[in-house]
Amino acid sequence: MSQEEDIRTQLIHHDYRAPDTFESPAVGVHKAATVFFPTVADLRSRRWVDRSAYTYGLHGTPTTFTLEARLATLEGARHVILAPSGLSALTVVNMSLLRSGDVVLLPDNVYGPSKDFAQHELAQWGIAYRLYDPMQPQSLREALSPEVKLVWTEAPGSVTLEFPDLPELVRCVREHAPQAKVALDNTWGAGLAFNAFELGQGLGVDLTVHALTKYPSGGGDVLMGSIACRDPALYETLAWTHSRLGLGVGANDAEALLRSLPSMALRYAAQDASARRIAHWAAEQGAPIRRVLHPALPGSPGHEHWAALCRSAAGLLTLEFDPALPARRVDAFVDGLKRFRIGWSWGGPFSLAVPYRAGAMREMGTAYEGVLVRLCIGLEHTDDLIADLAAGLDALRAA
Ligand SMILES: *Cc1c(COP(=O)(O)O)cnc(C)c1O
Repeated sequence: MSQEEDIRTQLIHHDYRAPDTFESPAVGVHKAATVFFPTVADLRSRRWVDRSAYTYGLHGTPTTFTLEARLATLEGARHVILAPSGLSALTVVNMSLLRSGDVVLLPDNVYGPSKDFAQHELAQWGIAYRLYDPMQPQSLREALSPEVKLVWTEAPGSVTLEFPDLPELVRCVREHAPQAKVALDNTWGAGLAFNAFELGQGLGVDLTVHALTKYPSGGGDVLMGSIACRDPALYETLAWTHSRLGLGVGANDAEALLRSLPSMALRYAAQDASARRIAHWAAEQGAPIRRVLHPALPGSPGHEHWAALCRSAAGLLTLEFDPALPARRVDAFVDGLKRFRIGWSWGGPFSLAVPYRAGAMREMGTAYEGVLVRLCIGLEHTDDLIADLAAGLDALRAA
């Protein structure tokens, strides 16, 4: 740098380059709005969409490109797009693939905010939604029509955790609505329980959305979402919509995820083992617990489909309480827990409990009458969690 330049100029135009032989396990936190181009020709020729070059912070940095590549490996995909939350990733897919006059299909047990988005936002743009019962492929078959351009799936469903025959749902769409894309909200499977792009018999979904907020973060402290797919044309469609919406993610958040990913499979396995032990324990308690919902538990809805597809399960289970119990006594159970905290989301080191009014949640299929309490199992010792649940049941009985 020239000696004649003012210190104010020199402080901006410093010569820093990462040292060539500096190799460390951490991916650098690269921050950028502006990215410099050496020449105008370079500015005109660089393409961010195929991830071959950097053009603007919103379109990616070495940190986000690395995270995308690792998530593609995790999900068995080729292309990944990052969004500021799981919900915004779902929204990008809807906005990218649906036009006025189209219809989107949602499973009745879909993640609640997805249904809200269809009801309150998509409806305004002339895009209708229909629900199908994911446990009855015939119900999906009947909902398919030429206007259907997108079919969402979830395995298992939100809160009630019914595991559908996912390959059969995909087959049904391929056969009866070849114009429609099949999307999976893959937050539960997380890329670990099964490969959504290879479901067997040559079947696979077209794209997955993953709330990285859950297992990939693992800390309960970062919000992020991803969209993953294999088809380059589909990827470009999604990537352009994502870019036009101006959705980027923060470098520090991307770095937090890169730091958490190496331990994700171990955390998932530990939370799976603990949740299964707790599910078996809860199933043995009898009244006031009427039923335990966990796809790996024999008798839970769709257990056979889970067993046919999955290597493992997320650390979630739901307790269905006797419908004769007043809701305030189930609230007393949740309030009586000390180690389980009350709060949304899951996948962190701490266990969580949330009560749901079952009746209001479903419009078709299996009826749930009692209050449901969803438990997300953290990394505490299982014995301590079981003792906490036993104390919660005592609080319910005393209420
Ligand atoms: C949490 C969650 C989302 C949304 O993720 P956010 O990052 O909280 O927006 C979407 N789908 C499922 C199944 C989830 O559990």
